[in-house]
Amino acid sequence: MATNAYIDANNIEKHYGSGENSIAAVDSVSFQIRMGELTVLMGPSGSGKSTLLSLLGGLETVDSGRLRVGNAILSDFTSLASAKFRRANVGFLFQDAGLLDRMSIMENVALPLAYTGMAKKLRYMQARKSLESLGLGQRMDHVPGQLSGGERQRAGLARAIITKPKLILCDEPTAALDRENSGYVIEQLKSATQNGHTVIISTHDEKIAQIASRILMLDKGKLIS
Ligand code: ADP
Ligand code: MG
Repeated sequence: MATNAYIDANNIEKHYGSGENSIAAVDSVSFQIRMGELTVLMGPSGSGKSTLLSLLGGLETVDSGRLRVGNAILSDFTSLASAKFRRANVGFLFQDAGLLDRMSIMENVALPLAYTGMAKKLRYMQARKSLESLGLGQRMDHVPGQLSGGERQRAGLARAIITKPKLILCDEPTAALDRENSGYVIEQLKSATQNGHTVIISTHDEKIAQIASRILMLDKGKLIS
């Protein structure tokens, strides 16, 4: 499986700080993930979930070990190459949606398409379609501060998937949501895998764990199961 897996992490490590204060946020972790899998990362706060997602998405680089995602050997990449990889392959969804405050919901969702070189009119058309399908048709011209937390997270989801990224990384995406909205986000992420996206979600949410095709359990930076 190691060779044809979509993601192949081999003894990857990431440390923060130096000397006595050095922390192994990700400590000799190895795993493979197939394309279209829905993987859940679990583990206590501080166990390295967010750091691992940052490495997989090319937001951070490993200190040692080998990390491949698709054809990209991220462990060899410069930060510029990582940024290029990220724009072409990765959608992120964070706990607080992370929308830009001064842009409308429509502009926020259309933004990742700007990097693809798509014409503005087309970008806005796609953003509109996506927002309508997520029940936010009436909210497109509002700024994030005018939306409820659940609506913001649905917009965050629209932004994460607008470019149809191969890899969708979600960091505790339902932690701030009520039951109805988290159910909605979970359904959408599940259907993303049915469309061939590979989805990795860090969470404490048992509902998400239930739909996972596999669970990676972290503790103090180590993969324990
Ligand atoms: P989790 O997402 O599971 O809560 P994190 O990946 O955020 O865990 O953190 C793992 C460890 O790395 C923690 O001890 C945390 O304090 C440390 N850490 C994470 N990011 C940084 C950073 N930018 N600088 C210093 N330490 C960090
Ligand atoms: Mg975290």
